[in-house]
Parts: sequence; structure tokens; C-alpha cells
Amino acid sequence: MTRSTGSGQGWRDDFGDRMLRSTPLPQAQLVRGEGAYVWDDDGKRHLDFLAGIAVNALGHAHPAFVDAVSRQAAILAHVSNYFATPPQLALAQRLLRLAGADEHGRVFFCNSGTEANEAAIKLARRTQRPRILALEDSFHGRTTGALALTGKPALREPFEPLLPGVEHLPSTIEALEHAIGPDVAALVLEPIKGEAGVRDLPTGYLETARVLTAEHGALLILDEIQTGAGRTGSWFAFQRHGIVPDAMTLAKGIGGGFPIGALVTFGAASGLFEPGQHGTTFGGNPLATATADAVLAEIERAGLVENAARRGRQLRDGIAGLPLVAELRGEGLLIGVGLSAEVAPDVVSTALELGLIVNAPNPSTIRLAPPLIIGDAQVEMFLALFAKALEAHA
Ligand SMILES: *Cc1c(COP(=O)(O)O)cnc(C)c1O
Repeated sequence: MTRSTGSGQGWRDDFGDRMLRSTPLPQAQLVRGEGAYVWDDDGKRHLDFLAGIAVNALGHAHPAFVDAVSRQAAILAHVSNYFATPPQLALAQRLLRLAGADEHGRVFFCNSGTEANEAAIKLARRTQRPRILALEDSFHGRTTGALALTGKPALREPFEPLLPGVEHLPSTIEALEHAIGPDVAALVLEPIKGEAGVRDLPTGYLETARVLTAEHGALLILDEIQTGAGRTGSWFAFQRHGIVPDAMTLAKGIGGGFPIGALVTFGAASGLFEPGQHGTTFGGNPLATATADAVLAEIERAGLVENAARRGRQLRDGIAGLPLVAELRGEGLLIGVGLSAEVAPDVVSTALELGLIVNAPNPSTIRLAPPLIIGDAQVEMFLALFAKALEAHA
């Protein structure tokens, strides 16, 4: 018998029957989106405060996104990397300008965050040094190289042995001072650890990491896949620390929903690859790069980086007094709400029933990553719904 896929619960059975068991069962089936809202297959509207995990920077179905995809699909979608295209060069130029790179800055395009980190690992290998330092509790992706960097043993262990030479350090300046040396190729880290529950680094960590890596000739590689593209209230999180890394990896928000990743290199690191040493069929194709360029142009035009900072403050002020709230972490519109009890998954379920999408990266944290376009009305609506969801479990 053919099951219904349009509404009700049929999709759950279909999912179990057809999708590989590599992810948990989804919470709902979504069919449409507009702005900060999505609709499920029962026609119920949800306020989306996760934005596809910090991806939908412009929300859903934004005219700038829709126009860019449609227009470029009708002009030229894909040509392979044997050919240059105008959108690819335009996006590279925009990213380098926004990152504050000088004339040595370069960009490599790929299709996802984990692939950007694979490129970064190969860049590190080019130093011919054997050790790569990463942080405990970090997340860098699911392909085997990026997984080796990921500081979550439960994710790594089922797939070992992985890339050798990777060490996971506690996130303290002392641990870094102890581990750094002339045989270190790179230190790879997230400026704010998103999947760990939006965990900030200790004050002064990035500044010290820059000094120590430079002193020992190691690369400082920042994974800004979750923090980049304006989410934290600056274009890239490192820019609030007065440092420049040797490389950074990007994905998620730069495409606003179109799959794209990038490795941006600064200074001498830009000269480590030789022609032919890395590549990808889809990476940097005109459809993806035209869309990402339009998304970033709209973030600039509409002042959404400033909006992320302002709405972030407004949200923090409103959340601070709510039940169960013990701690607020993160920056701008990447917020970790630390709860005083391990009820985050229950809060997520109740919120969904109320028409609010949030996420629990661990049992005591709610992560908020709304679209950068949110305004006053959505912040107020969020605070009312979130208060109800928390009260239900206080
Ligand atoms: C999401 C994420 C990745 C992996 O990106 P994918 O596009 O899922 O491969 C890597 N690093 C960080 C910090 C992320 O948040």
C-alpha cells in the first residue's frame, strides 16, 4: 500500500523506510518558508530561531536569494574548474574585502563546511610538520579529516583509525602554551564553539593563540563556518579580537541556504598549495557563487551585521530574566542559553508544539541562531513563546 506523504504522520514511516539510518528521526516535515517563518505539512506556522543551523541568513524565500538563484540558473549554472566565471571572481573579491585581507589574500571554493576544513587540513599538511592541534569539545565536520579534528570522542570513535597527528587540547591558554612547538603545522579552532553549546573561548585566548602560533611558525586556522557572515555582530568573529588568522573556513551562512564552502587564506599561507594539489568538481560554480554573492551583498545593503548585534542584545536582555535560565553565552545572533536543569530537549519539543523552532546542542543548552533579518516583532514573539516553553519545565 502507498502511504500518504502529504500530511499527518505518513512521512515518519517513509523516512524510516527510505532514508539511511545516519541521522535521528526528524521532528516535523516542513513544506514552505517565508522570512523568519516556516510551515509544516499540517499548515502550522513556526517561528524559525534556528535558521537551518545558522544557514538561512536572509530567512526563507528572500527576494535577493530567489532572484540570484533564478537569474544565474538561466545564465550559466556549472562549467567545471577548467574555466573561470564572473560570479566566482566577484564572490572571492567580496569575501576578501569583508575579511579585511590584503593583496596576499586568496579563496578556494567548495560545497560544505566539512570540505572547507578538509582543504584547511591539506593546507596544514603543506607545512610538512606532523602535528595538528585542535580543541576538546570542538566540531569541524563529518568527513574523516574534519572528524579527526572534531573534539567529541563519541563522534570519532566509531570511525577510527582516523588521520594521525591530531591532538585535542583543553580550551585554556596554559594547555596551548604547553602543546605548541616547532613541529606543529596548525592550530585549528572555532572562535565560539557552536556545537559544544555555544561556548566562548577564555578572554585573551585568540590573541595569545595568534602570538604563539606566529612564534612557532604554525598556522592559525579559524573555523568560522558557524560564526562567519555577520552572525556574531561582526563579519567574522576574529575581527573583534584585532588579529588576522593564516586561514579561515566558511560555509553555512555565506550561501544563505545554497550549499557552498570556502577556505580563505591570508599572507604567506596563500602560497602553500601548488596548482593541481587540490580541487573539486562543483566548488565555486557560478550558481553557488552568484547566490552567495547576492546573499552577502544583501547583508551589507540592509545592515544585517549591525542588526545581528542589536537584536542579539535585545534578545539577551529579554531572556536573562526567564525561568531556568542560568547563563547566556555567544555573541550577536549566536546565543547559547545555559539552563539550570538538563531539560533542553524537552524545552525544544514544547517550543515546537507552540510554533517555535530552537535547538538543544546538549541536555542543558538551548541554541538560538535566528535569521539575521529578524526585527522587533519577531524578538517579542520569540520571548513570549520561549518563556512559555521554559515555564513548562521549570
Ligand atoms: C556545521 C559546522 C561544520 C561542518 O559543516 P558542514 O557543512 O555540515 O559540513 C564545521 N565546523 C563548524 C564550526 C560547524 O558549525
